[in-house]
Amino acid sequence: MSNTILTCQKLCAAVGDKPILHDIDLSIGQGEVHVLLGPNGAGKSTLGHVLMGDPTYDMTGGSIEFDGQDITELPPNKRSLAGMFLSFQAPVEIPGVPLRSFLRAMVEAHGVQMKNKQFKQRVQELAQQLDMDPAYLDRELGVGFSGGEKKKVEMLQLLLLQPKLAILDETDSGLDVDALSVVSRGMELYRRDCGGTLLIITHNTRILERLAVDCAHVMVSGRLVDTGDAALIDLIDAQGFERYETQLEQA
Ligand code: ADP
Ligand code: MG
Repeated sequence: MSNTILTCQKLCAAVGDKPILHDIDLSIGQGEVHVLLGPNGAGKSTLGHVLMGDPTYDMTGGSIEFDGQDITELPPNKRSLAGMFLSFQAPVEIPGVPLRSFLRAMVEAHGVQMKNKQFKQRVQELAQQLDMDPAYLDRELGVGFSGGEKKKVEMLQLLLLQPKLAILDETDSGLDVDALSVVSRGMELYRRDCGGTLLIITHNTRILERLAVDCAHVMVSGRLVDTGDAALIDLIDAQGFERYETQLEQA
C-alpha cells in the first residue's frame, strides 16, 4: 500500500483552445506539505482548479488519482466528498444567511455526522482557536467581511471538514497582515489536529513560517520546471524565477 494521496500524470489542460498546463507530473504523500511557486500567469491557480474539476478548464490529457481512486472523470462535488478542498479567493455573499447556518449546511452536505450541540461546540472552539469573536458566527455570510474575516471563514471550513487534501491558493488575494496570520494559524491547526495534506500556492512565503515544508515545486509557463525541499523556497526568495524563464526560452 502506498501512502500517496495525490498523483497526476502527464496532466494537460486548456481554456477553450488555449493550452495552459503541459504534462504535469505531481505526487503528494499523505500528510505532506507541498508548496507551488511560480511567476504570475504560470498556471498555478489553473492547476488547483483542474485538480478540483472546475469545468472552466478542459483537461486535455493525463490522469489524476486521489486517495487510491482515479478521479479524472469525477465532477467537483464528488471530489470534494472524496476529501479534496480548494480555497476560494472570493467567498460568496448571502445576505440573510448567518455564517453559522452556512457552516452547518456545508458540514451536512459532506455527510459529516454531528449533533447540533456538538456542532455548536466545535464551531465555537474553532472560532476561539482562530481568534474569532463568536458573535461573528451570527453575522450574515460574506456581507462586509474584511480580507482577514474571509480567511477566517475559509479556515473554519477547512477545520470543520478536515479534508484529506487542502489546496490553498493564496496568490492573488493580496493578504494583509491579519489575513496572513489567520491562514498560517489555520494551516498549523489543520496539520496538527487533522494530520492533513497541504498544497499551498503562494507568493508570500511568510505564511509558511509555522509549517515544515516537505516539497517545493516551481511552475513556469504551465510546466513544472523544478522540485526540491524547503531550501528551494529560500533560493527563489533570493533569486526569483528568472533563471527558469531563461532556460525555457533557450529550450
Ligand atoms: P497563476 O495562478 O500562476 O498566476 P493562472 O493559472 O491564473 O496563473 O493563469 C495561467 C494562464 O491561463 C494565464 O495566461 C491566464 O490568463 C490563463 N487563464 C487562466 N484562467 C483562465 C480563464 N478562465 N480564461 C482564460 N484564460 C485563463
Ligand atoms: Mg493564481
